[in-house]
Amino acid sequence: MKILVIGGGGREHALVWAVRQSPRVQEVVCAPGNGGIAALARCVPVNQKDLADLVRVAIAEQPDLTIIGPEVPLSLGLVDELTRRGMRVFGPTQRASMLETSKAFAKEFMQRHRLPTAHYAVCHSAKELQEALTHFHTPIVVKADGLAAGKGVVICQSKDEAQEIVKQMFSGKLLGEIQSKVILEEFLTGEEISWLVIADGAHVLPLVAAQDHKRIGEGDTGLNTGGMGAYSTDTLIAPEMRDWLMHHIAQPVIDGMASEGAPFTGVLYCGLMMTARGPMLLEFNTRFGDPETEAILPRLRDGELLDVMEAAVDGHLDQVQLATRNESSVTIIAASKGYPGSVETGHAITGLEEASQEEGVTIFHSGTALSKSPNEGKLVTAGGRVLAVTAIADTLQSACDHAYAALSKIHFDGIYYRRDIAHRALKQNKENQ
Ligand code: AMP
Repeated sequence: MKILVIGGGGREHALVWAVRQSPRVQEVVCAPGNGGIAALARCVPVNQKDLADLVRVAIAEQPDLTIIGPEVPLSLGLVDELTRRGMRVFGPTQRASMLETSKAFAKEFMQRHRLPTAHYAVCHSAKELQEALTHFHTPIVVKADGLAAGKGVVICQSKDEAQEIVKQMFSGKLLGEIQSKVILEEFLTGEEISWLVIADGAHVLPLVAAQDHKRIGEGDTGLNTGGMGAYSTDTLIAPEMRDWLMHHIAQPVIDGMASEGAPFTGVLYCGLMMTARGPMLLEFNTRFGDPETEAILPRLRDGELLDVMEAAVDGHLDQVQLATRNESSVTIIAASKGYPGSVETGHAITGLEEASQEEGVTIFHSGTALSKSPNEGKLVTAGGRVLAVTAIADTLQSACDHAYAALSKIHFDGIYYRRDIAHRALKQNKENQ
């Protein structure tokens, strides 16, 4: 088989790595890919924000299956365009991806289908906001409706602050793009869990759960980032809880989308808050998360991902079972100094070969490139998040030890990583001993 993967980050490196393990795969093409993906796939340039360009690449390559990593191509309707041309694609249609692209749609859908979620109000104007605010206690969570690359959620400590943030969202000052609606939400507390399921429009297959670390600083402090690390271990969700989530969240979402004429095929990422009142849905993503994917995929058996994706595309996911490995995994992001603000790029990366000799370690590349002359072909930094160093082992502690041992061998100017990834679970494991 020939596979085309769209995207060029750590998530796509993990996807390429996982499908490569299938004996049925002869060739993988990645558009645009990155410096690390280039070792496993032929990388071809593409503008990921341009639907016509994305379609052009797929037509030129004629893959047996296309896998879409990021949200923007989904929001543009790439799945619809390729499916219309008779191509097989793993991912939701433009309408089904509204579960991610419009937070107002997602919240209203959750309410229509009685899914557990925070109390909310959708506001289209300053007048509606005034009225809605009277029904909320502080803190209040303010969310932009559309895709905002992780910047569209602000937790406000006062109603005045909420008013100011909403004003800036409506005017376009906060996100660069004018929002026609914003969502106010009740503030929830609890453990956050990323729970991903695969769906074929009717059937649902859960993957192992993960937890990510969004803040730049140790102890979960400082600015929000795309994610500084993640881990996956069986204690995150007990089997009874997983059954509950399947019956009360995952299956009702898939049934609900089908009943509304927008069947969902692909991977549905459920962002959950485990509150004292029970699990609550914070958000949906309609694609794999990054860096959770780098922690989750190594826990699948070799080649399993492709089997599951094909079953989803072909509509027989009910005939597939996952034989997940019961080891634990951890992914630690090595970032460039200054991230999530502006960073320098082009710094040489060394020590990767030595680091990857560490037991159970796989290094996925997030922002790397192969340098042009005079040092042609040398690996250099090319973004804020540079590497996703993943380790899998019998215990979470051992996975962390191996990942950090690998990281100690990697060098580039300004390397920064958090030293406390998985700290909550490790502390809990110690307390339970
Ligand atoms: P979202 O994109 O909706 O998941 O929001 C991004 C982050 O904001 C989440 O991962 C949470 O940490 C936080 N968040 C979102 N909604 C809420 C809420 N209702 N209560 C508390 N925190 C929230």
